[in-house]
Amino acid sequence: MPLSDIQDRIRKAEDKAGRVPGATRLVAISKKQPPERVEAVLEEGHRLFGENRVQEAAAKWPAWKARFKDVELHLVGPLQTNKIKQAFDLFDAIHSLDRPKLARKIAAEAEARGHCPKLFIQVNTGEEEQKAGVLPQDADAFIAECREMGLEIAGLMCIPPVDEEPSLHFALLAKIAARNGLESLSMGMSGDFEKAIAQGATHVRVGSAIFGDRDYG
Ligand SMILES: *Cc1c(COP(=O)(O)O)cnc(C)c1O
Repeated sequence: MPLSDIQDRIRKAEDKAGRVPGATRLVAISKKQPPERVEAVLEEGHRLFGENRVQEAAAKWPAWKARFKDVELHLVGPLQTNKIKQAFDLFDAIHSLDRPKLARKIAAEAEARGHCPKLFIQVNTGEEEQKAGVLPQDADAFIAECREMGLEIAGLMCIPPVDEEPSLHFALLAKIAARNGLESLSMGMSGDFEKAIAQGATHVRVGSAIFGDRDYG
């Protein structure tokens, strides 16, 4: 689907939800996409992208960042502590902060560099075994713990279970954010970003709806 169609759908969803036009940022998730598809979206002027693997992003993005000005890159997938330095080099935001050890190492790196990527705490709203993120009941304490380490937390992120109504998960995430004074909400993907906008998403992470299926070859 053309980028402009996705942007139209975002504006319509904002309007329908009574939100300020432009309140939602579109993070174009370029993981596992053929380079020409990503370049086409860069050529159209879009500058905000997301990747779910540090290694893959490190292989692709330095060249694009050199070629296209003002690219903003977000990490939306898991971060291992041994990749923190690389993540600081590449990413303007990390959406997957989910454990104290990672928070401590990010805080140390931020201290050393004098700056820190924008941080989102991932919440496992569906309490799924295999999924990353802090449990909803542990979120308040973890947010407080990160703040005590000196980290500035921008907001929360979630990936709802595939077989459940996402709106309930988006609403839960919004509620946890509100009671902790957090303004940013990273939620909503290709199949449900309009529902996420209705619940207050500030960042929607849309991949296949923009670029097409990743399942090739
Ligand atoms: C791949 C991915 C997306 C985008 O998924 P689509 O269904 O292609 O829009 C969003 N968020 C995360 C964390 C992802 O890994």
